[in-house]
Amino acid sequence: MTITRRAVLASTALAATPMGGPVLAQQSPAPQQSRQAPGFYRYKVGDIEVTAIQDGFARRPLEGFIRNAELAQVQQAMQDAFLSTEALSITFTTLVLQQNGRLTLIDTGNGDSGAPTSGLWMSNFRAAGFDPAQVDTVVISHFHGDHINGLRLKDGTAVFPKAEVLVPTAEWDFWMDDARMNQAPDAMKGGFQGVRRVFGPIAKDVKRYEAGKEIVPGLTSIAAPGHTPGHTSFMLSSGAGKLIVMSDVTNHPALFVRNPDWSAIFDMDADVARATRRRMLDMAAAEKAQVAFYHAPFPATGHIAKDGSGFRFVPVQWNSGV
Ligand SMILES: [Zn+2]
Repeated sequence: MTITRRAVLASTALAATPMGGPVLAQQSPAPQQSRQAPGFYRYKVGDIEVTAIQDGFARRPLEGFIRNAELAQVQQAMQDAFLSTEALSITFTTLVLQQNGRLTLIDTGNGDSGAPTSGLWMSNFRAAGFDPAQVDTVVISHFHGDHINGLRLKDGTAVFPKAEVLVPTAEWDFWMDDARMNQAPDAMKGGFQGVRRVFGPIAKDVKRYEAGKEIVPGLTSIAAPGHTPGHTSFMLSSGAGKLIVMSDVTNHPALFVRNPDWSAIFDMDADVARATRRRMLDMAAAEKAQVAFYHAPFPATGHIAKDGSGFRFVPVQWNSGV
């Protein structure tokens, strides 16, 4: 087949003008795109490659969000961070760990059960080059829907067909207790039912882990109760690399790293959660360790510095390669 000049011109968007001379086809004005690049970000912890995967956000009115602070104080903290004084955008960032050809997830995002502004996890995960069928292990930090619903779609489909699922023993014992579910106030019943929806079909296969154990190579669980009874943080170590995976020790850092004694309405035991938050933030500041928060602005990783009676979260600088 011979390629004619006419074919080349047609295929390269050159067109003949009425005057006969080839010119570039008329450019249409560039439309605004309104979407970001896929939300994933990679960093190294020793030999382990970590990929943060974003799952969008949910808006939460500030009114009533914090139990033990006046709305005006909360609005001031938001204003200090140049954030809206009406509502908080709570973002969701899970972690993928890769070492020795094995893929481990820490938490799963909202799946198709979250706010309409969430649910981006799977497209971001695939854009990062992963396939759900490759996942070997899913480690769950606690049983709130934004952490577990990605395991199972609403229609019942298991999202990670070959993955072993590891959950905190204390969390399992609390949420899978039928007597406790029956006694729970109506507002909490949905939480118990959601846990059963996700874990019921795989109850026999779910592996439970204790605090203070290395549960996959390099990843050690740390008891961090209060947010929920079995809420768990993690220390990820490889060589000289260290990352403290905080999970939900704090919600947005602009509120709860700055004011570690504030209690979000999500914290089931406010006093225990506050003690855990102080202990974990103190540890991160003392060790100068890198930290990851599930609900910090993407890529949801940085360092903690002491600042007055609270702390400051210092995000990492974007790194274009690892
Ligand atoms: Zn959460």
